[in-house]
Amino acid sequence: MDDLNKSMYEIGSDSAFAIMTRSNELANKGNDVINLGIGQPDFPTPKNIIESACKALKDGFHGYTSSSGIPELRNAVAKDFYERKRVEINPDEILISPGAKAIIFYTLLMFGRPGVEIITPDPGFIAYKSMIDYTGAKFVPLPHRMEKNFSFDADELLSLITEKTKLIIFNSPGNPTGGVVPEEEFEKLANGLQKHPNIFILSDEIYSRIIFDGNNHKSLLSYPQIKDRVIVLDGWSKTYSMTGWRLGYGIFPKKIFSFAEKLAINCHSCVNTATQIAGIEALEGSQVQVERMIKEFQKRKNFMVKELNKINNIQCVNPGGAFYVFPKIFKENYNSKQISHDLLEKKFLATVPGSSFGAKGEGFLRLSYASKIENLKKAIYLIKEFMNE
Ligand code: PMP
Repeated sequence: MDDLNKSMYEIGSDSAFAIMTRSNELANKGNDVINLGIGQPDFPTPKNIIESACKALKDGFHGYTSSSGIPELRNAVAKDFYERKRVEINPDEILISPGAKAIIFYTLLMFGRPGVEIITPDPGFIAYKSMIDYTGAKFVPLPHRMEKNFSFDADELLSLITEKTKLIIFNSPGNPTGGVVPEEEFEKLANGLQKHPNIFILSDEIYSRIIFDGNNHKSLLSYPQIKDRVIVLDGWSKTYSMTGWRLGYGIFPKKIFSFAEKLAINCHSCVNTATQIAGIEALEGSQVQVERMIKEFQKRKNFMVKELNKINNIQCVNPGGAFYVFPKIFKENYNSKQISHDLLEKKFLATVPGSSFGAKGEGFLRLSYASKIENLKKAIYLIKEFMNE
């Protein structure tokens, strides 16, 4: 196809979605498939949120809204951000988006181009690299190592900076590892970045509410040294079990907000109105179900870490947040793709190979424990069986 923009051939895909499709195929053929592949909570959206969306539709909220979102929702986000992260945000710098992923895309469209370098977590969320490759920018991997509980080393990061670096991406708690970056590391980084005043930072804080064992989430917007060049994304998908609603937001520094807004106008126009109204209810209504879900994730996480570590040739660190474990698995003559493939095709257990999150993910598997404890018990049994074969 000579007629297409050549960049189209550079876009990657998300294996978690391909694996979900294959799991559904196997399940439709009557197999008992356990899906620990896709990253979405297994809880329904809380009822009060659903009711508020239904009411909004019945009340006639059917039209377009402002591209950056309805003012009531932007105000609610600013209030929630202050309550949870103790950072004051001007609602005018908040862009409501159809899922947080759109913020990644818009940011990379703004910064990515040939000749530019973008430092990105490895292993890291797949969409970062796919879209960096699409823009023609150079993907510069920032290792997140198991020995550091899947955090990074600020000195190593600073050493990767060149005059071509325009953007650095962070994701804590992280996908696929659940790793949480300690405050000291971010502090060191923020100080070090003072020497590089033209570099922007994209901080993916989508899992910031799902955090365990006394770990603390500190937004990168909390560091005054870098605040005027930090873009934050967060949203409702994970916290409120709203992955299918498509609702997220980005906070952009004033000097680039209008560019993000123009991308929104040209791409998605606005987020569906009833969903935006439901987003207000999510932030302002009862948080009981969210707290219950986080407690349940914590229990499941403890179970997975304990049980995985009992299996020969598997090593699993205790993740600080999100809902993934990222065990290192050694099986002779197998790489992580083959392990994941055989677990799905022979044991009907869906997982995601670590290598699909970057070269540093080779040798690992991502297991989402957003699934009932009975399924997790079965999954452990199947992994044990597979490892012993
Ligand atoms: N960032 C990370 C790290 C994620 O894991 C995800 C979802 N898998 C997103 C962003 C996108 O979230 P949303 O569904 O709101 O687009």
